[in-house]
Amino acid sequence: MPKEKKEEFTFTDLPGIGTTTASKLEDAGCSDLMSIAVMNPADLSTLADISETIARKAINAARKMLKLEFEDATQYLKKRKEVLKISTGSINFNNLLGGGIETRAITEAFGAFGSGKSQLAHQLAVNVQLPVERGGANAKVVWIDSEGTFRPERIQQIAEGLGLDFQKTLKNIFVARAFNSDHQILLVDKVKDLIKRGEPIKLVIVDSITSHFRAEFTGRGQLADRQQRINKHLHNLMRLAESSNIAIYITNQVMSDPAQMFGDPTKAIGGHIIGHASTYRIYLRKGKKDARVAKMIDSPNLPDSECVFFITEQGIVDE
Ligand code: ADP
Ligand code: MG
Repeated sequence: MPKEKKEEFTFTDLPGIGTTTASKLEDAGCSDLMSIAVMNPADLSTLADISETIARKAINAARKMLKLEFEDATQYLKKRKEVLKISTGSINFNNLLGGGIETRAITEAFGAFGSGKSQLAHQLAVNVQLPVERGGANAKVVWIDSEGTFRPERIQQIAEGLGLDFQKTLKNIFVARAFNSDHQILLVDKVKDLIKRGEPIKLVIVDSITSHFRAEFTGRGQLADRQQRINKHLHNLMRLAESSNIAIYITNQVMSDPAQMFGDPTKAIGGHIIGHASTYRIYLRKGKKDARVAKMIDSPNLPDSECVFFITEQGIVDE
């Protein structure tokens, strides 16, 4: 397994920034070094109550730590080569995805109840454990469950279908039930702790990403706040994906709001925010009999197209 270690810096790693100034920055809504790196010295000086000279030094240091200079494109190619692709179990579906669910990316599946979003999550949780030649990453998985739909019995069926030891397979899945949106956000930080402990995690599942936010932020007046918090949550996940070469798989419901009757019935909750933050978006729907149809939407490097797969007792297959 490729060993990766990328340092995570905090405010106090910056010259001239102590714990008091750091907490002022947090109170002012700065969440990470990036928010400092993109500021101008005058603004940071006012915000953190420090001199402009110190502010300038801190900003420059943040820019260095985040490596905000240009890289030549070969560096990009090198990063792309480290990307692992986790098999869905279906060749057609893998082809649609350009090989499988990618590391260093967020893949979002959205669709109606029963369309197969959680089934795909179960399959990926097993497949990521396979050796690379079999479409895995020889790794472990974190499952953040906000809907209570993780089923060990289902893992058993899929694992045994692949000839894997069920108990061993279960041991490689770290599951946490997220009780509310704050808890869900916190759990992403806990993933970083697992990685620091040396757990070889290559997949993080959030099933579903939106349900708590949707239940908690109900009023019209809360919409902006909700979107902002989802946005921050997604960026946190993306940083995790990039810093540790991890695949993020998130699920999202579609709206079944009567007010949306004349709108697009395939509209995902969270709208633009999630759409912009996801690298790949797949729309899932039921087809004829047990068939499922997956449609790739707005990929940065793949054509928008569809494929058919099936959900069976042994998991996801082509036919
Ligand atoms: P959602 O998109 O709401 O998360 P799911 O991924 O939970 O939907 O899909 C549920 C569907 O998956 C069921 O309606 C059924 O068609 C199929 N399914 C679940 N378990 C099995 C199984 N053991 N064998 C065959 N099909 C299954
Ligand atoms: Mg589900």
